[in-house]
Amino acid sequence: MDTIQINDKRFKVSITEDRILREVKRVADQINRDYEGQEPVFLAVLNGSFIFASDLLRAISLPCEISFVKLASYQGVSTTGKIRELIGLNVDITGRPVIVVEDIVDTGLTMAHLLETLRAQRPGSLEVCTLLMKPDKLEVALDVKYCCLQIPNDFIVGYGLDYDGKGRNTRDIYTLA
Ligand code: 5GP
Repeated sequence: MDTIQINDKRFKVSITEDRILREVKRVADQINRDYEGQEPVFLAVLNGSFIFASDLLRAISLPCEISFVKLASYQGVSTTGKIRELIGLNVDITGRPVIVVEDIVDTGLTMAHLLETLRAQRPGSLEVCTLLMKPDKLEVALDVKYCCLQIPNDFIVGYGLDYDGKGRNTRDIYTLA
């Protein structure tokens, strides 16, 4: 399917499944090398990262744990700037190597807030692994160590990301047409 319709909006394919999986594997290999001898805790940020997290984790060969947290600041197609509370962190991350798994870093406000919350628990190390990043939209200084793909400032859906709750179940990534 080259284009999909979700509610009032039409989207066209911009990143194919092949390309996504290649980049996910590249980043997983990098993490496997960087964390050799360690047991990282992956914290996947729901809902958008659920497909990315499942592909990433299956390419990780280290002994590791994954936990799912929730923190959202997005509605429709524009950032509201509203930061919500972190919920669901049910592992003790004190002293442990933590990798936050996110679908997309846009302004970076969500991630900056999340990192601040997590740092208060004194993890041994704390890094970000994101599927996508819109570097031109970044509003805060953020060190993103692992990034699969950088994209322009367009609204995208698919491979876990939604538009008004829909479109998460596609294999490719689509951009607003
Ligand atoms: P930030 O705080 O970095 O501006 O926003 C991050 C969150 O906004 C992401 O976790 C994601 O849920 C949402 N987001 C940002 N850009 C997009 C986009 O292009 N498409 C979708 N579906 N969500 C986005």
